[in-house]
Amino acid sequence: MAELEGLEFGKSDFVLLDEVTMEQFMENLKLRFEKARIYTFIGEVVVSVNPYRHLDIYGKEVIEDYRGRELYENPPHLYAVADAAYKAMKRRAKDTCIVISGESGAGKTEASKYIMQYIAAITNPSQRAEVESVKNVLLKSNCVLEAFGNAKTNRNDNSSRFGKYMDINFNFNGDPTGGHINNYLLEKVRPSVLYHVLRIFTISKYTVFLSFSLFSLSLCHSKSSSQASNNDSLCHKAVMAALKVIGFTTEEISSIYKILSTILHLGNLQFTSDGEHVVLVGEDTVKHISELTSTEPENTRKALLYRTVATGGGEVIEKGHSEQEASYGRDAFAKALYERLFAWIVGRINSVIQVMDYNPALHGKNTVIGVLDIYGFEIFDNNSFEQFCINYCNEKLQQLFIELILRQEQDEYQREGITWQNIEYFNNQIIVDLVEQPHKGIISVLDEACLTAGKVTDTVCLDSMNKKLGQHPHYTSRKLCPADKTMDFNRDFRIRHYAGDVTYSVEGFLDKNKDPLFQDFKRLMYNSSDPVLKEMWPDGKMSITEVTKRPLTAATLFKNSIIALVDKLACKEPYYVRCIKPNEVKSPLLFDDGRCQHQVAYLGLLENVHVRRAGFAYRQPYARFLQRYKMTCEYTWPNHLMSSDQEAVEAIVNQHGFEDDVAYGHTKLFVRTPRTLFTLEQERAALI
Ligand code: ADP
Ligand code: MG
Repeated sequence: MAELEGLEFGKSDFVLLDEVTMEQFMENLKLRFEKARIYTFIGEVVVSVNPYRHLDIYGKEVIEDYRGRELYENPPHLYAVADAAYKAMKRRAKDTCIVISGESGAGKTEASKYIMQYIAAITNPSQRAEVESVKNVLLKSNCVLEAFGNAKTNRNDNSSRFGKYMDINFNFNGDPTGGHINNYLLEKVRPSVLYHVLRIFTISKYTVFLSFSLFSLSLCHSKSSSQASNNDSLCHKAVMAALKVIGFTTEEISSIYKILSTILHLGNLQFTSDGEHVVLVGEDTVKHISELTSTEPENTRKALLYRTVATGGGEVIEKGHSEQEASYGRDAFAKALYERLFAWIVGRINSVIQVMDYNPALHGKNTVIGVLDIYGFEIFDNNSFEQFCINYCNEKLQQLFIELILRQEQDEYQREGITWQNIEYFNNQIIVDLVEQPHKGIISVLDEACLTAGKVTDTVCLDSMNKKLGQHPHYTSRKLCPADKTMDFNRDFRIRHYAGDVTYSVEGFLDKNKDPLFQDFKRLMYNSSDPVLKEMWPDGKMSITEVTKRPLTAATLFKNSIIALVDKLACKEPYYVRCIKPNEVKSPLLFDDGRCQHQVAYLGLLENVHVRRAGFAYRQPYARFLQRYKMTCEYTWPNHLMSSDQEAVEAIVNQHGFEDDVAYGHTKLFVRTPRTLFTLEQERAALI
């Protein structure tokens, strides 16, 4: 067993603080960070601070220390949570999930990888080939998704611009048999996303044309990319290898590169006007694009310059774009190509790892561990549609957290016949409603504005939000609160989130919410003779007269996917990892008090400690408790003569003077503070 930490490293569980105040919390967090103890428990929750340097705490021996152990037996670690989730899954046949949250750069994706590595390391001891291959694909899928979904941002060199939920399926042996990945809101609107694409691109075989202008933002980020550094080519090799391990065919890989290449060529495409019509600058580019997408150059040209519309009378006409419309269409096309490529890659990975022909009658219960790596609350200087979606998602997750943690606790106390006082907590359902309620919520107002014919501007949309939501206690805007000069009259609204106030600018909300892609591009892609590309555009099959139903808006699609996600998580036993970013400069030495405190506040960690302290931190069946601690009491060692295990446990508790810290359930002993167990553990350790 690994040694428990000494007190010089601070409290390994925030529940042990003398007083639950922000001051004490921060002091402990900082001390531990400075001593390279980046993990700290709140009961079963792990709080993690990004160390921004390599720590030698993930090796094989460490894995062995945590394997099959109880949470309090070892210092706090991701492995402790991973093991707890795995044990619950294996011993009690429970579906479990591990929710990893925190802001960009806080260490979520790294944490999810360590957790998966841990699970991979402790399963399939007999090295069965088919299980090994599933594990391999699951691990390799990270590499591929990161290559295509990540971007270098100023907050994180390797920032995932998508949320990821991965189910890992296990058979009755506890070995992985497959999985499924869901991705959420890939940020297609951010040109910098294409930085990484470009990075891959520059080292691929289609390196011919690199003078692009559209994605100037990504290009100015990518000074090093044109040099194709060693690191990039290593990364490229790893991605190629991973694609092959997963089972992408040569043709598929070639299609992927052609699509990436198309996106970059689109960036090279300019429009101008000959006075009467909009014309393309550089017909060569169109030729390249149609070669890469296996489409007719004439059709490609048409899709870029015209759109087909059905008139009221059912007539179909071709309408020329304005210069602005043409540029807008091109950008939307590039972004949609990227988004669909990503979705297709995820789907392709899923088709490889999906569990086939599982027969519960034959094979026993198939259980699941879900790992969710999703952006936490975002509060920037400028908050737009993406922050709105992300923060809504976090409200939903908080709702789940409240529901699961509190409900589960209360259920168990009731089952065991323990009296328990309900604790006061802020129920954020009211904010969730503000965003998602049908006909009333912000999303519904947004959608309505998008569906309204004619020119509805963002400002008009803000007006109707003000009208509909002005009375809501968690909504405000300058119009409703004229004295508040921090908001712009025609642009801003503010939501009082559970984690704090966030001011959003409606600028661009409508555009981002609409499906901005002209149907002509969908048809063009569907008619491609590249089967991979065609597969990505099934909606291009419809003819113009058939296209009457509007596609769902981005916000509604996101809402639906988050509701589905929450439903999935709600039926699982949850484990939490809360990640904190210590500073903005990626320094291993700097603990920025202000920034950290802010995160502790909006992650709700103090409330978490309160909840934990109000209830019972640990519980154990009497027999198990007795087995472990009977050596610490003269009446129970080596065997007790009492009439029940419960009585024997009472003898141990009384001898140590812990009476006030425990409650006796029907089958289990409940212990209020971990300190009690900690003391028992130390005594036990001294005796063996
Ligand atoms: P997030 O997914 O929360 O945006 P990442 O997991 O990508 O953040 O972490 C950002 C960077 O921080 C990583 O690329 C890595 O350099 C560093 N980092 C994060 N977690 C650790 C860790 N446990 N040990 C060492 N470095 C880490
Ligand atoms: Mg990430």
